[in-house]
Amino acid sequence: MKEADYKELKKGGMMRQAEKGKFSVRLRLAGGRLTAEAMGVVKDVADRYGRGEIHLTARQGIEIPFISQDDLFKVKSELAAGGVEVGVCGPTVRTVTACQGSKVCPLGVLDASGLASEVDRLFYGKPVPTKFKVGISGCVNNCLKAEENDIGIKGGIEPCWNRDLCTYCGVCEAVCPADAIRVREEEGRVHIDLGKCIYCGDCIKACPFRAMQESRRGFFVFAGGKFGRFPSLGKKMGGFFTGDSAVISIVRESIEFFKSFGKPKDRFGTTIQRVGFKEYEKYVLDALKEEMGEKAARHHR
Ligand code: SF4
Ligand code: SF4
Ligand code: SF4
Repeated sequence: MKEADYKELKKGGMMRQAEKGKFSVRLRLAGGRLTAEAMGVVKDVADRYGRGEIHLTARQGIEIPFISQDDLFKVKSELAAGGVEVGVCGPTVRTVTACQGSKVCPLGVLDASGLASEVDRLFYGKPVPTKFKVGISGCVNNCLKAEENDIGIKGGIEPCWNRDLCTYCGVCEAVCPADAIRVREEEGRVHIDLGKCIYCGDCIKACPFRAMQESRRGFFVFAGGKFGRFPSLGKKMGGFFTGDSAVISIVRESIEFFKSFGKPKDRFGTTIQRVGFKEYEKYVLDALKEEMGEKAARHHR
């Protein structure tokens, strides 16, 4: 088999191993989710064509190692017959990672897993200058490490204060992990500094009189993060966004920006640095406004 064919196989999720003639087959998963039935299909393939091993990757993926070159396409079609797709590698939109989110986790604000499936359905495998990774955390606890991704999404809750119900007990100020609340009974007010607030919602849960309330549920966006040889954290876009459709639009516009301005081998963060973060933000937000009207889901603090 020629070098070019190996490249093609790699693009199609079948990566050459250190051991001659053996390949590791990557599967398509979104948010690390797989049905028990599909897991049975994967087990069966690993037992019959590999060495009974399954590798869980750092980004919630599954790879089946030790597949012989001659069996690759048989494996692909057996997996497909069982409803399991082989994944991608190379310069494409990669596996979308997510925590379990609000459908499972009691702390969840976003349905991170459901959003991952939707982002995967729309963008997985699309060609881009280099790999492009999306990660979604259902709340500010950030189990999924949003900032390590080209685009990271992190759910949050914006609090608001109801004067009529407040007794100025001071509980909210005491529990706030960001030192963002000042209770001033003498002035008849509780001040929330949204510039400091991390949108955790702890004050809402802790208030004994329901005077601290939920204003909005939404998410923050981080752009340009990566791991690898030179790790860097994604930079936070200005504003708090709401609505699942805004997640989709922001990912779509970021991919378009990358396709328009990225050079071969540039990661997304490098492209943003070269063009300018403000320009990138404008590109995405202008498109968002056009799509959603002036009631675009961005809210400046
Ligand atoms: S990030 Fe939040 S929602 Fe997701 S698993 Fe962690 S605590 Fe739960
Ligand atoms: S915890 Fe509730 S009642 Fe107490 S000061 Fe804060 S907002 Fe007011
Ligand atoms: S949401 Fe969290 S960070 Fe923000 S004011 Fe309330 S407790 Fe503080």
